[in-house]
Amino acid sequence: MAGKKYAHCIKTGALLRSIPHYTGQSIVAHEGELDVDCSIGYHCISKKMSFDEPHTHDFHETLCFIGGNPQDIDNLGAEIEFTLGGEKHLITSATVVSIPPHLEHCPIVFKKVTKPLIFLEISRTRNWKSGKSSKPKTKKVRK
Ligand SMILES: [Zn+2]
Repeated sequence: MAGKKYAHCIKTGALLRSIPHYTGQSIVAHEGELDVDCSIGYHCISKKMSFDEPHTHDFHETLCFIGGNPQDIDNLGAEIEFTLGGEKHLITSATVVSIPPHLEHCPIVFKKVTKPLIFLEISRTRNWKSGKSSKPKTKKVRK
């Protein structure tokens, strides 16, 4: 596509990443790759894991949990405990969590995962950074 006026808008392959705690490949644009004040991450989760550290951001963050079967996306096949503003919420079906700036969130605990699900994050910031916390944000695999 070299030489075409809008070729820079087409990001084939360039955003693919291998991230150990996710299944398969992710699509990640956290460092201004989209040339807009928006960052995204698409991931597949197929085993128990968690994001442990409560934190905030100075931007809006939207986290989506979507069943992996495109014919039945509401069937998550998972139980996710999501702590938002200190409240624990149990997610068991397709869900979008819209997190305003400065609202503390996490831990997010994938307590049960019976089949692959999609984890999609969309943030209103050009450069996504781990949130403000007393400790760095951690991601670990639970057994
Ligand atoms: Zn966050």
